[in-house]
Amino acid sequence: MSSLQCDFCWHQCMLAEGKTGICGMRKHTDDALVTLGFGEVVASGVDPIEKKPMYHFLPGRKTFSFALFGCNYTCRFCQNHRISQTDSPFWPGKNGHEGPVPVTPQELVGMMEQSGSPIMSYTYSEPLVWQDYMLQTAHLVRDKGKLNCMVTNGSFSPSALQRVLGLIDAFNIDVKGDDRFYRDYCGGALLPVLDAVETIAANRDTILEVTTMLIEGIHTEKMVKAMARQLADRGVQVWHLSRFFPQYRMTALPPTSEGFLEEMLLVAEAVGIPHVYAGNSALYAWEKTVCPACHKTLIHSHSYAGEAFNETQQNIPGGVCASCGQRIYGRFS
Ligand code: SF4
Repeated sequence: MSSLQCDFCWHQCMLAEGKTGICGMRKHTDDALVTLGFGEVVASGVDPIEKKPMYHFLPGRKTFSFALFGCNYTCRFCQNHRISQTDSPFWPGKNGHEGPVPVTPQELVGMMEQSGSPIMSYTYSEPLVWQDYMLQTAHLVRDKGKLNCMVTNGSFSPSALQRVLGLIDAFNIDVKGDDRFYRDYCGGALLPVLDAVETIAANRDTILEVTTMLIEGIHTEKMVKAMARQLADRGVQVWHLSRFFPQYRMTALPPTSEGFLEEMLLVAEAVGIPHVYAGNSALYAWEKTVCPACHKTLIHSHSYAGEAFNETQQNIPGGVCASCGQRIYGRFS
């Protein structure tokens, strides 16, 4: 029997019968490619949309969020390794672990409706490796007139990006470091991620926010400045820089300090990205949404959902600054 190629992500694995791809989640079996753990929801909940993090996509609203198991990267610092990495005891079929009870996309959409959330988020692990299930769900969400949000490492294959683009209303993409960082710590590559960022940023119907978790001692000012330029050149408007906390295979390093984070926030802002935010941090001054033209504070904090919703209605009516009329990047109603 001939090999089949999986095109769910940039690895584009060629799989002989019986083989699984680099992610461990896609398998060639009985002359077809299947997703292991399909429909087995390993995490779900109702979150403020700000937790994804998304600050320019319906601020103050809730999102129903869920994950199946798996990832196509092997980040040594993964904050969600129990539901993403194949050495986890929760890996479907491992250690006699039978996995959770399957949930259908229809059931998930029902749960979203019950929760009163207008947004379904594909998050916690890496939705690229379970994108067949994500797309089935996203179609149903669209049919209900609701919105879809994907939180991803952005390592799409070109065909996967085209499949997903038309259905996802908002993306948060992790851009983790320079290419060396991707090779040394993630089992990935920078270029496919930047290509996806560029394509999504150019799509007028889609909201894009980027997140980078900074590891003090590994990320440098030079690296962050270069990343800021790469993102700015590709039209990124919103960048979240967040603090690292020791996790998984990187427990020997201390947490990133607030001081280092603030230095990097200033670097990012100086390069000209209009909205730069702090994450995993008490730097509350970097949590505000400010009009890039008149500098009026439009949303004082993204920690308090109700307040953010009220301020959005008042300060960004119709998506423009109530003070000067400047269009504010994002979707606010
Ligand atoms: S999702 Fe990516 S890593 Fe997994 S089999 Fe498909 S191409 Fe390979």
